Amino acid sequence: ARERLKRLKFTPARTLNAEPVELLANIEQPEDCAPALEAGAAGVGLFRTEFLFMNRGGKLPGEDEQYAAYSRVIQAMQGKPVTIRTIDIGSDKPLDAEDHRDGDFTHLNPALGLRAIRYSLSDPAMFRVQLRALLRAAALGPLKVLIPMVAHASEIRQTFNELDKARAELAAENVRFGPVEVGAMIEVPGAALALPLFLRHFDFLSVGTNDLVQYTLAIDRADESVSNLYDPLHPAVLNLLAQIIAQTRAAAAWKGRPVDISVCGEMAGDPAMTRLLLGMGLRSFSMHPSQILAVKQEVLRADPDKLAPLVQTVLSSFEPEELQAALAALN
Ligand code: PEP
Ligand code: MG
Repeated sequence: ARERLKRLKFTPARTLNAEPVELLANIEQPEDCAPALEAGAAGVGLFRTEFLFMNRGGKLPGEDEQYAAYSRVIQAMQGKPVTIRTIDIGSDKPLDAEDHRDGDFTHLNPALGLRAIRYSLSDPAMFRVQLRALLRAAALGPLKVLIPMVAHASEIRQTFNELDKARAELAAENVRFGPVEVGAMIEVPGAALALPLFLRHFDFLSVGTNDLVQYTLAIDRADESVSNLYDPLHPAVLNLLAQIIAQTRAAAAWKGRPVDISVCGEMAGDPAMTRLLLGMGLRSFSMHPSQILAVKQEVLRADPDKLAPLVQTVLSSFEPEELQAALAALN
């Protein structure tokens, strides 16, 4: 079966009705580009940069070291689009097991605390180092910058302010930098329910279903004692996801240009979810490189026009038996 999948590497990812689907890789280190390319990834949809930063005694790498890492990814991907996420430190990804910036990460609710963009904005000088490294790397190839866990208009404004400052600094120093598209992770239910705010300000969106499930269902994704309740197929999650995709696809009409949308949580790399997501209108998936060919196999045999009405039945199914039957009808 592995050998059969391997043969799909050069087969374009298209649905039965010939719609192109973008299959991207999630990476954690520049070395992960090799397996991504090996699997035929169309680009990097999520580079989780916090892994460059973890377990270094609490010290972040400087601008040049970050620039070197981002450059390696852009160069390895040979002109294919690369999406780099600003650090998602905190909660399930502590900067360092022992040495935290505030000396104590044993907060009551770390998942609801100082993590991701909140962490970056709490230390603008540190954030600016990452933004400068990203802007410099953007001179080498197509780069999109992705902001994790944004939920508030104030965070959007501060993020764009910091980007403007970073650009102004580089320009004043005569340092070469390139253009970037800026996107938001949609992984907080509050952001999903206020989507027009994000559609207006960002060039693209990427749905983080791992956190969206966690926050929608109030299930700590790291707590094994409640892992049986961590359910990506909960009707609330499915309806929220479908609504995000539909609203984003409809945004071009009022925004005047399309807002790209991808899913980069585990759901995107689960071949059992591919038909469901295609039926919701999703055409871009980002996943662990090892999942790309299995998901492609599902894309090749799917007809989204036929799946869409079946997905509507899924979305209006709230009783477990009813939902199971509606999901089974997708296959
Ligand atoms: C997610 O939340 O779905 C996601 C892709 O980000 P992470 O798993 O790194 O939080
Ligand atoms: Mg997340």
